[in-house]
Amino acid sequence: METSNEHFECAIIGGGLAGICLAIQLADGGVSVVVFEKGKYPFHKVCGEYISMESWPFLESLGLPLADLALPKINSLGISSDRGFLLNHNLGMGGFGISRYSLDHYLCEIALRKGVRVMQECRVTDVQGSAADGFQIRTSAGDFSSEVVCGSYGKYAPQFVRFSESERLNADNQNYIGVKYHIKTDFPANRIELHNFSDGYCGISKVDHDWYCLCYLTTARNLLENGKDVKQMEEAVLFKNPFLKKYFQNSKFVNARPLVISNVQFSKKQTDLSGIFLLGDAAGSITPLCGNGMSMAMRASKLLAGQLLHLFNGKQTHGQAAQNYRREWNAVFGRRIRAGYHLQKLFGKSRTTDFALKALNKSPWLTSKLVALTHGDVF
Ligand SMILES: Cc1cc2nc3c(=O)[nH]c(=O)nc-3n(C[C@H](O)[C@H](O)[C@H](O)COP(=O)(O)OP(=O)(O)OC[C@H]3O[C@@H](n4cnc5c(N)ncnc54)[C@H](O)[C@@H]3O)c2cc1C
Repeated sequence: METSNEHFECAIIGGGLAGICLAIQLADGGVSVVVFEKGKYPFHKVCGEYISMESWPFLESLGLPLADLALPKINSLGISSDRGFLLNHNLGMGGFGISRYSLDHYLCEIALRKGVRVMQECRVTDVQGSAADGFQIRTSAGDFSSEVVCGSYGKYAPQFVRFSESERLNADNQNYIGVKYHIKTDFPANRIELHNFSDGYCGISKVDHDWYCLCYLTTARNLLENGKDVKQMEEAVLFKNPFLKKYFQNSKFVNARPLVISNVQFSKKQTDLSGIFLLGDAAGSITPLCGNGMSMAMRASKLLAGQLLHLFNGKQTHGQAAQNYRREWNAVFGRRIRAGYHLQKLFGKSRTTDFALKALNKSPWLTSKLVALTHGDVF
């Protein structure tokens, strides 16, 4: 692989929340950083855009003036079954809404101001090398070299990433699709609702721009059974839930077509691979119903930044950094991921969901406990 003159101490593959937050923290610590992002900011992403309040102080510490953005604060939760039962509950710590279109863009601008080199519309196609000899990164904009490489490429591992056989077996065989719209509608700004339907659920909550995010996750099978036609599937399946039917029929859609992603799988992966540190969805993801992937991505960036700064300051080796990061990651996220796995089974099946919601309605303390499991502590 031919190497250009461009050398950085740290190269980050993927400028989503995990990658761009890591870049900002490393730049604050005096590390030279390049981020490769195949998209061009600002751009939309399939995401429910509800961020657990646990991340508020962290985002402010990076330089994002959240308090000035007049974002909706969300403290009320509604969960419905497709049979029309609605569970209402207080969200406890709660969260806030902001579109990924705005959030990732704001963070990119902060990174640029702090001296991070952000290569947009630049896809990484290969990584060679080792921690001992340094890494060469091949991209659509040429080759680069770095001492450390971090993978924050999200839920889809690029082809050059080779997972072990056991890792592939670990993946949840269920294949999901995610669909997202921005809509304008009549809905309380302090509320998030999750509406179940056969083999899926759909969230609605307010974000910036006077938009509401309407985003759902369902099995690829559901779409196939409806002739691969999103509209047809919505009318045949989602509309069986009376709340969803109302929101779909009585809202103004900002864009005519939704953003759709396929091949979504949820599993714990690993925190390092072939000497590359992994974070965000690249290290493991859980279904949005069961946890807050964005907060997990940001928190992982904080854990990793701490270990990498020790590495760059000569206080530990690459191997020690990898080991310490793995230990911290498991300690912080292990319980949440296990809880999410069990919680997921309660939803998406008409009778089970209806029964579970009615039982939870009679046990507010249990509902509070489950809600708390999906949110983490402030970090
Ligand atoms: C339907 C759905 C709803 C969700 N709702 C919520 C929610 O409401 N709240 C919440 O907290 N979480 C939610 N999540 C989870 C959340 O979106 C993710 O956990 C979060 O985006 C992970 O951030 P990340 O930085 O790891 O990945 P991403 O944000 O996906 O960023 C990865 C980036 O890497 C780039 N990239 C990939 N490959 C390459 C390459 N080879 N070269 C260069 N760039 C590359 C991509 O373009 C992308 O920008 C939801 C997820 C889904 C699927």
